[in-house]
Amino acid sequence: MSTLGEALAQARQQIDRLDARLLLQYATGCTHTDLLVRPETPVSAPAYQQFAEWVGRRAAGEPLAYLVGEAEFRSRIFQVSPAVLIPRPETEVLIELALEKLQGIETPRILDLGTGSGIVAISLALECPAAWLTTVDISADALRVAKNNAGRLGARVEFIESDWFAALAERRFDLIVGNPPYVAEGNPHLALNGLPFEPRLALTDGAPGGDGLACIRQIVAGAAAHLPPGGWLLLEHGYDQGAATRNLLCAAGFKEPFTHPDLAGIDRVSGAYL
Ligand code: GLN
Repeated sequence: MSTLGEALAQARQQIDRLDARLLLQYATGCTHTDLLVRPETPVSAPAYQQFAEWVGRRAAGEPLAYLVGEAEFRSRIFQVSPAVLIPRPETEVLIELALEKLQGIETPRILDLGTGSGIVAISLALECPAAWLTTVDISADALRVAKNNAGRLGARVEFIESDWFAALAERRFDLIVGNPPYVAEGNPHLALNGLPFEPRLALTDGAPGGDGLACIRQIVAGAAAHLPPGGWLLLEHGYDQGAATRNLLCAAGFKEPFTHPDLAGIDRVSGAYL
């Protein structure tokens, strides 16, 4: 039988140190302190088997979040499955900007496009309790994950299965936000960092030889019909898509488009108002 210390040392030869520690904690239920203070603690056979399986899959590139079924975003734990993108810290910029634009609106109506695990809609619902959140996703599997997260975290959100605005009829919102797929089809980034395990539909617009902007183009073109004058549209995008997104916003009649960097200083969210 292995001890905590032995299991950890073995795993570290195959995967990242932090990943090894977190997987061992998930598999055994022990804490970081247990690992440091009582490394001689035996690991039960079923826990060891689970740990060894995860280490093998992690070594083959599968993201840790899919192995353990959850990931953190803005200090909250969201359940994830391979039906949804794993939350990225850079999406926090979208939340911060949305909260800023909501200042002064008493009971804002907010639409989140392509919710995935629900992180954007749920974070906004919890951090702006007066807001009415509606969110759409084209994937019924993703909506199931998002609904479950909203229930667990106590967020009031309306979920609609829809291809962007298709199922929203004439409904209008004070703010529209989204983290749509924007990585160009064929971009080598899609083959790295666990992305092959994530839903293709959530990452790329699927247009071969394109610029990755097909979804952003579609959203910008459709948004005006769902915003009042003064309503904001905020979209996450790739590091080199700020200027193109601002141009699309201008062409669709939006005012004063801006681009905001993420915490790494990379262009990440563009927005404008009608
Ligand atoms: N930022 C993610 C990545 O580069 C992609 C997210 C998205 O396409 N919306 O891995």
